[in-house]
Amino acid sequence: MEKDHKAISKILVGLVDINLIGVEDNLGEPLHVHIECSNSQKQCPTCEGKVHHNGLRVVEVVDLPSFGRKVILFWSKHRWRCANKHCPQPSFSDDDPKIAQFQIPTRSSSPK
Ligand SMILES: [Zn+2]
Repeated sequence: MEKDHKAISKILVGLVDINLIGVEDNLGEPLHVHIECSNSQKQCPTCEGKVHHNGLRVVEVVDLPSFGRKVILFWSKHRWRCANKHCPQPSFSDDDPKIAQFQIPTRSSSPK
């Protein structure tokens, strides 16, 4: 039986590679769950060089029902900038296909 409260939250949301940032529980509204990737980039995926944090973008992810209640995920995607001046991929953001499959395209589209 899982007893760690963070691990329990991940199980209830149905995603494992996340950090649960917080939950907003307002009466009569969907539950708002704020998450970020736990495997956030530590190096450039193209040149494997060092990266610098370059801000944050919150993406609304489509509802995931939990015990019959509507749940909206807010995904805090960290943006990164490659320290290598010659890298063909100067910037990028966190990505997780397991979360992205639920992403609402109309509200989340912005250039990477
Ligand atoms: Zn790079």
